Amino acid sequence: MAGSACLMLAAMYFIVWLKQRDRPACLLFSLLAASVAGMAGLEFSAMRAETPWQFGEIIWSAHPVALVLICSLVGFVRLHFDAGRTWLAYAVCGSRGLVAAVNFVLTPNLNYREITALRYIPLPGGEPVAVAVGVRSPWAALGDLSLLLTLAFVVDATLTLWRRGGRDDRRRAALLGGSFTCFVLIGAGSSSLNHAGIVHTPYLISLPFMLVVLAMAYELSADILRAAQLARRLEISESELRETQERMHLAAGAANLGLWVWDIVRDRIWSMEQGRALYGIPPAKPIDFARFIAAVHEEDREPVRAAIAKALDSGGEYESEYRILLPDGKARWLAARGRVELDGRGNPLRMRGVSIDITRRKLAEQEVQKQRSELAHLSRVTMLGELSGSLAHELNQPLTAILANAQAAQRFLEREPIDIAELREILGDIVEEDKRAGEVIHRLRLLFKKGELQYVPLDVNALVADVLKLVRSDLVNQGIGVDVELAPAQPTVLGDKVQLQQVLLNLVVNACDATAGLDSAERQIRIATEAATDRGVRLSISDRGHGIPAEDLERVFEPFVTTKSQGLGLGLSVCRTIVTAHGGTILATSDFGRGACFQVTLPRLPERTDDAAG
Ligand code: ADP
Repeated sequence: MAGSACLMLAAMYFIVWLKQRDRPACLLFSLLAASVAGMAGLEFSAMRAETPWQFGEIIWSAHPVALVLICSLVGFVRLHFDAGRTWLAYAVCGSRGLVAAVNFVLTPNLNYREITALRYIPLPGGEPVAVAVGVRSPWAALGDLSLLLTLAFVVDATLTLWRRGGRDDRRRAALLGGSFTCFVLIGAGSSSLNHAGIVHTPYLISLPFMLVVLAMAYELSADILRAAQLARRLEISESELRETQERMHLAAGAANLGLWVWDIVRDRIWSMEQGRALYGIPPAKPIDFARFIAAVHEEDREPVRAAIAKALDSGGEYESEYRILLPDGKARWLAARGRVELDGRGNPLRMRGVSIDITRRKLAEQEVQKQRSELAHLSRVTMLGELSGSLAHELNQPLTAILANAQAAQRFLEREPIDIAELREILGDIVEEDKRAGEVIHRLRLLFKKGELQYVPLDVNALVADVLKLVRSDLVNQGIGVDVELAPAQPTVLGDKVQLQQVLLNLVVNACDATAGLDSAERQIRIATEAATDRGVRLSISDRGHGIPAEDLERVFEPFVTTKSQGLGLGLSVCRTIVTAHGGTILATSDFGRGACFQVTLPRLPERTDDAAG
């Protein structure tokens, strides 16, 4: 019965091993169980032996079976429990091999020098069974030594498992140590009882060893069960992962987000369907960096390249906004953000990120920009209306001079002889005056024009001079004196000439308005340019007028805030919009009742020494 049970287990685990070749412990267990079954078979035949010779033969053939049994046990403990010292394992197997080898050459076997007779002892409720009577061989001590080594190996493995301290390890230690101790106790116990003559039983190994087999089978099955549970859990988490991915796709789709990953080493870009659609790239086509950059609008390619290079260099974040040219010729605005991942040595490995369609936002921004510049234009034209008297005067002067010169020339022509030199001089004057009038008209036309913004390097000192030319006669008419203090080093800024002229003009006109009611000695304004910080240019316009109450210093920049009966209250608000768009700031300070000062700070353009040198 014990044999069949072990054979059954051996067959089962052999099949398991056939299906799962990566579990050699199953094969070893199968060998262990099969050899115990073999041992049971041999023990059964020994009990039924009829001659001492027959008995001796059976014991002789039990030794190779014991060799397989012990070696598979040691292998199983090492492989499955990862316990037991290696040298002990070799010692056990080696000694068992030696026992088998010595047994091979001995007659009748390693255990007996001679079997003299068979004794039949009755078993309760069964046939009488044979046991040998004979002389013990001295080689039998080798068998005992091998058994002791096996015991040492199992004890050592049990202790190692126990010391590891985990719940599973302790259970394994209890199973291995417990079952083996039972085996030893039963074996030793029955042998001493037999010696003492208290009981008469044949020596059986297979029955007590079945305990060890059962314990190991239990352990192995628990392990297989755990693996199955793990696989099921893995299946569940796989389906959860799928679910999460679905949700992510849904969310990305709803937000029109394109997720992408760029494998930098292999230059492959993976992108979700939406991502490809955003860039106008067909689903099946592989994407690399060249394909991506080709989709970007020609004018935006360089800034995108620069942003990516910066992120790769610093191993940090990537952020850029650019246009994609669609097949129908329209542009789509995209905002992309990403993060670089580095390998252990700090080299960029991949970049993950998202792209989002921001065309609508960009169009809205452009619309706002358009409205702003229209408002600025409106306010400019209004201001020029205020200046019209002064401008008419500015034009009148050269026209009067031209008329006077022309009349003088006519008079010269009536005289004889005609003084050609004088006439040439008069005509020269006429040309000069005409040019002056032309310049005034040209400046005015520029200010009236509603053109695109053009950011060019501008000399702030020249800007002040231009504006003063426009308001000169107005200032003279109102009896307002101007102190001009210009920075010596021609501060340069990047800006739109017309818009910055408008800012300055507005501030000068306001200063003039504030000084209007004062004594002639007090009617003085000051315009100054200076280097503000190491990266800025400050332009200040101050007057000694009525000033601004402290609580209104910020409010005056709001639209439609005015204290003038004819005022629109747009001038300062437009000034702030323009200055902010130039990356600068504008602020008012005032000593109320004694004047106000407006300061415009603009970022200075670094001097291009290389160009100057060339
Ligand atoms: P407007 O000139 O049409 O009133 P602005 O926006 O140019 O519109 O100016 C808003 C208000 O700020 C003015 O009405 C005036 O009260 C105040 N303000 C502007 N500049 C000065 C100044 N230099 N001194 C005193 N008050 C000023």
